[in-house]
Amino acid sequence: MAKPPIDPEKVVVFSGAGISAESGISTYRDANGLWAGVNPNAIASKTAWEKNPQKVLEFFNERMKTAALAEPNAAHHAVKDLEDVYEVVVITQNVDDLHERAGSKNIIHLHGSLMEARGDSKGSQAVYRGAIPIRYDETDDFGNQLRPNVVLFGEDMMHADESIDHIKTAGKIIVVGTSLNVYPAAGLLKKARYHSEKIIVSLEVDKIPFGFQMMRGKATEIVPSITRAWLASLAESEQAAPGKPDPAES
Ligand code: NAD
Repeated sequence: MAKPPIDPEKVVVFSGAGISAESGISTYRDANGLWAGVNPNAIASKTAWEKNPQKVLEFFNERMKTAALAEPNAAHHAVKDLEDVYEVVVITQNVDDLHERAGSKNIIHLHGSLMEARGDSKGSQAVYRGAIPIRYDETDDFGNQLRPNVVLFGEDMMHADESIDHIKTAGKIIVVGTSLNVYPAAGLLKKARYHSEKIIVSLEVDKIPFGFQMMRGKATEIVPSITRAWLASLAESEQAAPGKPDPAES
């Protein structure tokens, strides 16, 4: 089967916990991260939920409060600004809502969202809840215990096929603030095309995927400089080709 064409005006932003670090939300794996001295399986796994849902709720209610108090930073805003001229799809591993609050429109949460809740039963629909902690014994209309709509260790990642379709057709991909050691999320980047422009912005990554250029440094400093350059390059190419029809006029 023929590969789908690459759209030079489409950008995929693939983000992880590091993009929100400078907003005051701890990453999981850095030296002072949330997992320092903690066994993730004991508080954020499917087994932990089955054994001790109160403890899991407590952990995620705290994460949700921290996220609600944080503000989007210059990197989230720079990502949003790309929408002025590019088609932008944000594929995030993050469970916070800082991309939403920066104004990005098209966001895929691979690991769910702290701001959504659903009943603890297969097929239960997630609903937006905002920054309201979930109580133990709080149930949906069918009597199922409510839980945050986040992917626990041992559960399946969300929206894989949709994300792959976007990664395969993007002319530019920027990966921000991820260690790339959480799978299957990190594996999605293998679907990036040879001819697309591919950049990673992070303090540290385990292994740079093939074809990606590593730009080591803080998201708030590096992401805005990349997005400014991309915005300027598209404006220049449009000036050089003034005959391009305006879709709004056709
Ligand atoms: P990670 O904790 O494994 O890695 C974070 C990465 O960000 C590291 O590579 C680190 O070097 C980099 N980083 C830290 N500060 C940075 C900065 N200021 N600028 C640029 N890069 C910076 O995070 P991950 O790869 O996203 O995977 C962990 C999982 O943890 C994800 O699935 C996510 O669901 C979850 N998580 C989410 C949040 C959130 O929603 N904000 C926070 C913590 C963990």
